[in-house]
Amino acid sequence: MSKKYVYLFSEGNANMRELLGGKGANLAEMTNIGLPVPQGFTITTEACTQYYEDGRQINEEIQAEIMEYVAKLEGITGKKFGDIENPLLVSVRSGARASMPGMMDTILNLGLNEDVVDVLAKKSGNPRWAWDCYRRFIQMYSDVVMEVGKKYFEQLIDQMKEARGVTQDVELTAEDLKELAGQFKAEYKAKIGSDFPSDPVEQLMGAIKAVFRSWDNPRANVYRRDNDIPYSWGTAVNVQSMAFGNMGDDCGTGVAFTRNPATGEKKLFGEFLTNAQGEDVVAGIRTPMPISEMAEKFPEAFAQFENVCKTLEDHYRDMQDMEFTVEHGKLYMLQTRNGKRTPAAALKIACDLVDEGMIDEKRAVAMIEPRTLDTLLHPQFDGEVLKKTPVIGNALAASPGAACGKVVFSAEDAKAWAERGEKVVLVRLETSPEDIEGMKAAQGILTVRGGMTSHAAVVARGMGKCCVSGCGAIKMDEENKQFELAGKTFHEGDWLSIDGSTGKIYDGAIPTVDASIGGEFGRVMGWADQYRRLKVRTNADTPHDAAQARKFGAEGIGLCRTEHMFFNEDRIPAIRRMICSDTVEQREAALAVLEPMQQSDFEGIYEAMEGLPVTIRFLDPPLHEFVPTDEADIEQLAKDMGKTVSEIKAIIAGLHEFNPMMGHRGCRLDVTYPEIAVMQTRAIIKAALNVQARHPEWTMVPEIMIPLVGEAKELSYVKKIVVETADAIIKEAGSNMKYLVGTMIEIPRAALTADEVAKQADFFSFGTNDLTQMTFGFSRDDAGKFLDAYYDKKIYENDPFAKLDQTGVGKLVDMACKLGRSVNPDLHLGVCGEHGGDPSSVEFFHRTGLDYVSCSPFRVPIARLAAAQAAIKDAQ
Ligand code: ADP
Ligand code: MG
Ligand code: MG
Repeated sequence: MSKKYVYLFSEGNANMRELLGGKGANLAEMTNIGLPVPQGFTITTEACTQYYEDGRQINEEIQAEIMEYVAKLEGITGKKFGDIENPLLVSVRSGARASMPGMMDTILNLGLNEDVVDVLAKKSGNPRWAWDCYRRFIQMYSDVVMEVGKKYFEQLIDQMKEARGVTQDVELTAEDLKELAGQFKAEYKAKIGSDFPSDPVEQLMGAIKAVFRSWDNPRANVYRRDNDIPYSWGTAVNVQSMAFGNMGDDCGTGVAFTRNPATGEKKLFGEFLTNAQGEDVVAGIRTPMPISEMAEKFPEAFAQFENVCKTLEDHYRDMQDMEFTVEHGKLYMLQTRNGKRTPAAALKIACDLVDEGMIDEKRAVAMIEPRTLDTLLHPQFDGEVLKKTPVIGNALAASPGAACGKVVFSAEDAKAWAERGEKVVLVRLETSPEDIEGMKAAQGILTVRGGMTSHAAVVARGMGKCCVSGCGAIKMDEENKQFELAGKTFHEGDWLSIDGSTGKIYDGAIPTVDASIGGEFGRVMGWADQYRRLKVRTNADTPHDAAQARKFGAEGIGLCRTEHMFFNEDRIPAIRRMICSDTVEQREAALAVLEPMQQSDFEGIYEAMEGLPVTIRFLDPPLHEFVPTDEADIEQLAKDMGKTVSEIKAIIAGLHEFNPMMGHRGCRLDVTYPEIAVMQTRAIIKAALNVQARHPEWTMVPEIMIPLVGEAKELSYVKKIVVETADAIIKEAGSNMKYLVGTMIEIPRAALTADEVAKQADFFSFGTNDLTQMTFGFSRDDAGKFLDAYYDKKIYENDPFAKLDQTGVGKLVDMACKLGRSVNPDLHLGVCGEHGGDPSSVEFFHRTGLDYVSCSPFRVPIARLAAAQAAIKDAQ
C-alpha cells in the first residue's frame, strides 16, 4: 500500500503532530471535540520530506492525492474550487511539529481570480469584501510564493490611501480595492514577467510548494537552531476553507490566551479587531480592542468563545493560545496550541493547574522548559525604562542577565574602577584567562569577537555574569580606549547597558532590578527533586560560587579547578617562580608558598559545601598561560628569580607550544613535575582534615581528580604519588579519613581503554568540553570561524560544544561507562563539561546511567529540572 500523505481534519487527532504538525493535529482535535472549525485537510510532514527528496518537486502521486482531498473538501463544504457561482476559497498554512510562530508564511483567500471575484462581488451584495479578499490574496501569493517583496504592495496601498484622503485600510471602498487589485497584478507582471495565475489548482500547488520551501528559509533555520528543532522534521501544510472576518462590522478576527502569558494570571488575555482578516490583528495597522471589550460588542460570539476556552483548557490541561474569526456573529476556531509564556508565568500556571486539580505534579514538572529558568536567576532591566531606550546593537546572548555600567576597556581598569565603587561594563575585542579578575569586577562583558562558547561566554556563564559576545558591528579602538557603534563613539566612562538574555546593547544607563524568585519556583523544584535520579553538582572554584550553587540546590562540587586561584595577584608570582625554576628544590620552594594558599582556598570551599562531596582537579592548563606578557612583570620576575630579563624571556619562549590545547598540560605536568602533585595532594588532604576536625558532624571524603589521562599508566603513576602523600598525612594526623582518586575522561583514548583506566580509578568524570574538542578535532574557540558555514550546509545543526553530540562523543561516553563498570562495578560516574547544564544532554546522561552531572551554579536549577524530566520520560 502506498503511503498516505493527506488527512482530512476529521481523520486526525492531537497525537499525530509528528505527521500533521502541531497546527494540523490541533485543528483535527478541535474538529473531533466538536468545536466550530472551518474544515480542511493536512498534507503531512512526510510529503515535505518527499518534496525535498524529489528535488523540490511535489510528485504526481502526491498531487493526485491532494486533488482527491480537494474533491472531498468540496463535498463537505458544498462549494467548488474555481467555481464561479459557489467558489471554495481556502487558506494554505504551514505547521511544523513544534510551533515556530511567524517563521513560515500563510496565504489566505486562495481560489480567487478575476472571474470568480466579479461574480462574488455581485452575488454577495458585499463587493468591498470580495475585492478586499482578492487584493489580499494577490499580495500574499506574490510575497510568499513568488517572493515579490511585500513593500511594493504596501506602497501602492499607501498611495491609494493618500489619493483618497483616508488613513485606514477599512476606509477604502470596493472601487478603490478593485483598482488596487488591478495595480497589484500589474506590479506582479512587472516583477515576474508573466500574468498572475488564475487557475486555482496552479495557485494551490504553488502555495503548497512555497510552504515546503519556507521550511528551509534562513529565518526558519536560525529559529530551529535556537530551539533545538531538527531540520529533518519538515513542515505539514494545512488547506482550510476560509472563514471571513472582513465581511463587515459584525465580523472580525482575534487572538487570545486562556491565561496571561506574561504573569500566568488566570484571566482571558487577548485582542480582537473588527472587519479584519489574518495578520491584521498583530500587524499593528489598526489598534485592536482588548478581548474584554469584545464581550460588550460581540456578546454572542464572546459567550461562544468563553465556552470554547474552557473546553480547550479542560481538554489540553494547559494554557491555550488561540486564533479565531467571527463571521457575521458566528465564531470559527482557526488554531489552538499550548501558549508560549514567560518563565515566571510558566511556573505560576503549572502550580495553579496542580491546585485546580487539572494536572499532577509530574506533569507540572514536565511542562516547564528548563532552559528558560535561567532568566529568573539573574538581574533584569527595569521594563518601563527598557521600552523607552533604543537598541544600538545586537549580538549573541552569551550569558543571561542585565548589566549597566560605565565602559572600560581592560580587565585592570574594570578592577580598579570597581574597587572605587563604580559599576562598569568591560568591553573587549575578546577575553583571555588573564581577564578573569576584571570580568568578575564588571557588571557585564561585551566582546567584539567570539561565539557562544568563546572564553568570555563560557567564563561568564560560569560566574553567572551577563555577557554579550560577538558584536561585529563594533569598531574597536582599544588603544585609544574608544569604540564606535551605531554611529556613536563611546569613550571610557560612558554609560552602556547590555542584556545577556537577548543580546541587545543599549546606549545609556538602564537601572536593573534583582530577579525575584516567587514561591512557585521553589515548589516546582521541590517536585522535580522527587522524580530525578541523577544528582546535580556544580562547577565552582571559589567559596562564593560554591555558596551560590548551594542556594540553587547543588549537591556537591563536580569540578573545582585549581588554576583559577593561581591567577590571583598574590599567587601568580609564586606560580611564575615555580615555572621558571631550574631545580626541583627551587620548584618545591615556590610550591611551598602556594600550598597554604591552596589549602585555605579548599577549606573555604569545603565549608561552603557543608560536607557535601567536592571533586578537586589538579592543575590543568599549559604553563605558558601563567607567564607574564608585559615588560614590567617580566622584569619583576627576573628580579625575584635572580635571573636576567633575557633568561626569563628565553624560558617563556621555551614554553611556546604549537598546539597548546594538545601540549604540555593536565597530568603531563604531574608526570614531569611530580612535586606539583605532591603539593596539591597535601593542600587538599590537609584542608579536608582541618574542616573535618572543625565539623565532626560531616563526613569528609575529598575527591582528587587527575585531568587529561589518555593511558592507564599515566594515571597509576600520578595516583601512586597522591596515595603515598595522602596516606602519610592522614596517618600522621591519626585520622581514618577516606579519599577518592579518579580521573577525567576527556581524551578519546581514555574512553576507548576505559576498562584499563577504571582499574586505577574510583571515579570517572567526563570532561565533555575537551572530549568534544578532541573527538571532533577542532577547538571550541576556533569553531566560530566555520560553524556558520556548517549550519548553512546542514552538516551540523548545533554547536557540539553547547549540546552534546550523542552520536559520536556520546558513543564514547557510553562505551567508557560500560567498559569502566565492567572491571569496577563501584565506579562513580559524572560529567563536568558545559554539557552538564544543557537539558538535552542531561537527558542523554540520565539514559546512559551516569550518577551525576555538574554544571555552573546558575545552571543547577536547569539541570535539576532536566534530570527530573528525563526520569519522568524514562518511566513512561
Ligand atoms: P501563523 O502560524 O503565522 O500564525 P497561520 O497559519 O495561523 O499563521 O495564519 C495566520 C492567520 O491567518 C490566522 O491567525 C488567521 O487569522 C488567518 N487564517 C488562516 N486560515 C484561515 C481561514 N481558513 N479562515 C480565516 N482566517 C484564516
Ligand atoms: Mg497562527
Ligand atoms: Mg579538560
